[in-house]
Order: sequence, then structure tokens, then C-alpha cells
Amino acid sequence: MNIVLLGAPGAGKGTQAAIVSQRLGLPHIASGDLFRQALEEKSELGLLAKSYMEKGALVPDEITVQMILQRISASDCDSGCIFDGFPRTVGQAEALGKALTDQGKAIDKVIYIKVAEGELLKRLSGRWLCRKCQTPYHTVSSPPRVPGKCDKCGGDLYQRPDDTEETVKERLKVYFAQTTPLLDYYRRENKLAEVNGKLGIEAVAEQIINALEPGGRIE
Ligand code: AMP
Repeated sequence: MNIVLLGAPGAGKGTQAAIVSQRLGLPHIASGDLFRQALEEKSELGLLAKSYMEKGALVPDEITVQMILQRISASDCDSGCIFDGFPRTVGQAEALGKALTDQGKAIDKVIYIKVAEGELLKRLSGRWLCRKCQTPYHTVSSPPRVPGKCDKCGGDLYQRPDDTEETVKERLKVYFAQTTPLLDYYRRENKLAEVNGKLGIEAVAEQIINALEPGGRIE
């Protein structure tokens, strides 16, 4: 099963992808994490992506698609995967669709996690992430038990450099201009199911699992 999680920055795609990945036993493929990892390793890909990420802009499709297709060619993706943060443009969606079709596969379902814009700004401005396992925390709504440390693995928490107010605004602008057309794209393909991302983590996960059931809801 190949599943795409769509939604604005801060909608909870990463949190939900981790839950769904564990429940379904499918790998979680997060394009942002792959870029951040490349950046940390100072690889050619990381250096290419750096300037775009810092500005809150999208890395060009050609680079992003190549990175993702390479990742999903690994054997752990043979039975499918959960895409988080990819595709983000119609061009990326078309390239992914074509690559999967060539392998006799397809995107099975696209889950749109809907959250109002004001809420997104609040969530991103208080967000802290574990450097080791990527678990997200929030200074107000879900603080860690020990300040600065991950509850799950004890790793150090950090704030993403692109979670500053100015960059967050740019990322949201880019999302509305370049990614929201994917809602209609996948609606037309009869693959889109919308869930209410304003609810708590478990309630959102439940909606997603229900939508993924055979015969689950479609928009
Ligand atoms: P994310 O962690 O998904 O918020 O992504 C962080 C940053 O990585 C984005 O602001 C982009 O600069 C870049 N990025 C992640 N995914 C994509 C994508 N599918 N297409 C282009 N750029 C991406």
C-alpha cells in the first residue's frame, strides 16, 4: 500500500506518518527528513537543498523527485510506504505516479490533514523536535517531561531553523500556492480522504486508519 499524507507545514503529517507507519508496518518516507539528513552529512544533495530550505522555498522538482525515487527503490519499500511531505507540487505527483505505474504500482490513498492557518502558525512557533528520533514536542500543548530532552529516547531537542516566524510565513505561502493544487489532482483520481487535523493526535490517527480501511471514505 502506498499512502500520501498531505497537509500544510504544522498539520501533523510527521507525527501521523510515524503512527501509521508503525501500525501498518510500512516505511515512513519524509522528504524533509531526507534533506535534513543530507544537510547534516554535508553531501552534495544537502548543499544543493540548503539555500532553498533556509528560505522556506521548495527544492526544485528534479532534485526532489530523484532523491525520493532512489529512496523508494530500496527493498523495504517493496510492499509500499507512507509519503510525508512528498509530493508537494503537481509535477512531483506526476513523476511519482509515472514511476509507480512503471513498476505496476500506484498511490492507493491520499490523506489530507486539514488544519486552519492560525492554528498552524501557533503550532510551528512552539515546536521542538528530537534530534535523534524526530519526535515532536510543543512548549505549550505537549512539553517534554524533562526540558530539552526527548521522553522516548532521551535525545536532545532542537528547534528547526526554518520554524522562525518569517520562514514559517513563507513556507505557508509556498504551500498554498504550490501544494494545494494537489488536493484537486488527487480528488480527481478518487484517492483523497480528508481528516480533521485539529483533533488530538490519537483521534486524528483513528480517522486516518479508518479512511485506509478497504472501502474507507473518499472525498
Ligand atoms: P518539511 O520537513 O517537510 O517541512 O520540509 C523542510 C524543507 O525541505 C521544505 O521547506 C523544503 O525546502 C524542503 N522540502 C521537503 N520536501 C520537499 C518537496 N517534496 N519538494 C521540495 N522541497 C521539499
